Amino acid sequence: MKSFPIFLRVDAKPPLVVGGGDLAGIKARLLLKRAALVEVAAESLGDELSRLEADGKVRAIAPNPGIAELRGRPLVVSATEDDAEDTRISAMARAFGVPVNVPDRPELCSFVLPAIVDRGEVTVAIGTEGAAPVLAQRLRAFLERELHPRLGSLAKLAGEFRERVASSLPEGPGRRKLWERIFDGEAASAALAGDEIAARRLIGEAIDRAASDETQAPGRVVLVGAGPGDPELLTLKAVRALKAADVVLYDGLVGKAVLDYARREAELIPVGKSKGAHSVAQAEINRLLVLHARAGKTVVRLKGGDPFIFGRGGEELDALRAAGIESEVVPGITAGVAAAASVQIPLTHREHAHSVTFVSGHAAASDRPDFDGIDLAALAKGGNTLVLYMGVSTSGTVAEQLLAAGWAPHTPVLAVENASRDDERRVRADLAQLAADPASLGLESPAVLFFGEVAGLAVSGTVDEVLARSELRLAHG
Ligand code: SAH
Repeated sequence: MKSFPIFLRVDAKPPLVVGGGDLAGIKARLLLKRAALVEVAAESLGDELSRLEADGKVRAIAPNPGIAELRGRPLVVSATEDDAEDTRISAMARAFGVPVNVPDRPELCSFVLPAIVDRGEVTVAIGTEGAAPVLAQRLRAFLERELHPRLGSLAKLAGEFRERVASSLPEGPGRRKLWERIFDGEAASAALAGDEIAARRLIGEAIDRAASDETQAPGRVVLVGAGPGDPELLTLKAVRALKAADVVLYDGLVGKAVLDYARREAELIPVGKSKGAHSVAQAEINRLLVLHARAGKTVVRLKGGDPFIFGRGGEELDALRAAGIESEVVPGITAGVAAAASVQIPLTHREHAHSVTFVSGHAAASDRPDFDGIDLAALAKGGNTLVLYMGVSTSGTVAEQLLAAGWAPHTPVLAVENASRDDERRVRADLAQLAADPASLGLESPAVLFFGEVAGLAVSGTVDEVLARSELRLAHG
């Protein structure tokens, strides 16, 4: 079965239910969630239908309807519980192009009734192409719990203001942003709390404010940390920023699964930087951020991990401030923290490590590790964890420098490649081996390397043991 979801209008001509029993009653009641009146063709009406008739919601017509009774209906439900009659109604309706449903007889249906979550103006219809009705019911139960009971009132209230918004603001990002502000802000909270008077006032004020701002239409830039790759490691704020963005400038390390959270209409611009061309690319990125924000756009600058950990977030903020552009920063889970969680090694531990230091394997515009001002000798005294970023190609040099600074040759090293992604890989070595033969780790970018006692603790999952003559003091993993 292949069905396309639509919402049918039932306010022009009443839908028709054929049959007068309990099943017909249930279907009539369902249709009455939206239709003001349902016509029922039956010999006699059961209890429920009689009650609905007394309330003026059901009008009885003669049984065994013909073409004249079906024509022009938005839909017909045949629930006579008489196989021959249901089949006749179905054939007739389909011949004349009237949508028809016969409960539990998919072959007689031209449409199916979805599982429905009803919040007045807001309706969620769930379908599984008939494959998993129980799953649909569970989804329904989930949404029933999640969707605020007054969501419909909020939508209705918004509907009342549509014309006023249309006459105050031209179509485009400004108008959408206004609605987002309304739905995310105090106006919505008031409506959901049942305070319609306050909600109306707040919506009115938001419209006036937006209309007077519209002339300058200031854009803004949100620096968003996308985490290490697994979209489940995005923050709720990051998802919300992505959904609100007109333009998304994203790094090479940001995966497609994360970008899928952007709006369909958003402009997605890859600005993945290649090493060696940093400064030019960064200036260009800064220029693009300013350009799009000045055009009144909401810009998301999406960066792997956290924007402020080896992410040049500080430089971008400087450029935005210099240009007078409003900015916001949404933190992300940095690669080192994600990798530690994935392998389940603690970065600090009361017995093994009382500090953690994030270092870079590449100083700005050079191929050397960036250890300026870091007291490697002090960290060598033990009980410290070093986390190396951008260190795949310099890891051997890093190990040599650590040895020279007095780090023990048997200090455990654990590398995690593609942390949190499907192709995550872990390699264990010690400092001496890494210095002697870095290629033996077979590392590819992106990877983080942990140095220190915690890197020798048991890990969750498998590790490629590079170190044959394992001297790891703490290794049990
Ligand atoms: N701002 C980012 C770091 C950017 S620098 C963050 O907070 O994570 C790029 C480096 O991050 C890579 O060279 C690598 O060391 C590390 N990295 C990024 N994603 C990674 C991942 N999924 N697995 C392992 N390391 C990763």
